[in-house]
Amino acid sequence: MKALTFQGKQSIEYTSIPDPEILQAQDAIVKVDCCAVCGSDLHVYHEREKGLDHGTVMGHEFTGEVVAVGKEVKQLQIGDKVVSPFSTSCGQCYYCNIGLTARCTQGQLYGWVEGDQGLHGGQAEYVRVPLAEGTLVKYNQGLSPEQALFAGDILSTGYYCADQVNIQPDGNYAVIGCGPVGLMCIISAKEMGAQTIFAIDQIPERLAKAEEFGAIPINFSQIDVAAHLKELSKGIGMDGVMEAVGNPAAARMAYELIRYGGSISTVGVHTSSGFAFSPAEAYDKNLQYKVGRCPARHYMKTSLEIIESGRHDLDGIISHRMKLHEGSEAYRIFDKKQDNCLKVILYP
Ligand code: NAD
Ligand code: ZN
Repeated sequence: MKALTFQGKQSIEYTSIPDPEILQAQDAIVKVDCCAVCGSDLHVYHEREKGLDHGTVMGHEFTGEVVAVGKEVKQLQIGDKVVSPFSTSCGQCYYCNIGLTARCTQGQLYGWVEGDQGLHGGQAEYVRVPLAEGTLVKYNQGLSPEQALFAGDILSTGYYCADQVNIQPDGNYAVIGCGPVGLMCIISAKEMGAQTIFAIDQIPERLAKAEEFGAIPINFSQIDVAAHLKELSKGIGMDGVMEAVGNPAAARMAYELIRYGGSISTVGVHTSSGFAFSPAEAYDKNLQYKVGRCPARHYMKTSLEIIESGRHDLDGIISHRMKLHEGSEAYRIFDKKQDNCLKVILYP
């Protein structure tokens, strides 16, 4: 089959590799209908996290059709249309039972193979899915493969992020970063009843999207965001901040915006070894801080309902549709945000 493979820093190649096979009784093989490039793929692309084997199939956002199942798979049939969360989960362990499927004791992240151990990704013609029954979700035939795809990562991640700040209708909320994940935070906070959401970025087109989704856009390169939001909230600050960037500057901004006792929820992937605020500063704000990988599988039912509702123009964030063989170029465009690139969907 053909797949996009990691070949080192900023090097993604469209290569021929053997088709994946059923290795364990709980596996399924999915023929990919479409897959997407995610902000998280850029951490790998830039080798911010070291260790990935060259030749690893990239990607963790995909939908497709089940074409083979292991002998213990009973609830999925060949021909089922499915969406996968970005990590696998058994559905039965302690963490799956408490809804923290991202930390399933047997879970694996797609697109991460290190020292020959791990799981290849979804930017390919076929994907092997371990723990298929606990992982894959069948989606309603009324949805297109690219609509369903958002449930597997970005919408579930945005929902998780918003869920961690205890949204109240009359509260003031800020979303830092208006990439696909930040935009999904806005939609999710709206779904939970938030009326006042400030959206912070410096890319005008992304701020315009945030406004379309019902947020108040703020360009951080033009104004002092902390002073501005303090004034707008009568000197109090934000009740909740959702951070969907993953760099120290954004983390620091979250700290500066939050009110005493407010909640910061961080889904941006951080790789630095220290916090952007000190324990003393956290103490002085009675800060509540939530951070980590989204248990996407746990949120997918809700995400699919939101997508099916048609309440939000989710298709509107897809800026580019390309062929899988154009994957190397897709990464380059997405990384440079060239041509207002916001979300790229790839078709095998
Ligand atoms: P993206 O790169 O498309 O978007 C990030 C946005 O942040 C960009 O629009 C950029 O202009 C903006 N930005 C950069 N610095 C900023 C700053 N200091 N203040 C405000 N905005 C700033 O990425 P994405 O696909 O939207 O993903 C966002 C983050 O979420 C990434 O770190 C990604 O890895 C992470 N992520 C985490 C999970 C999880 O499970 N926790 C899941 C999916 C994605
Ligand atoms: Zn992703």
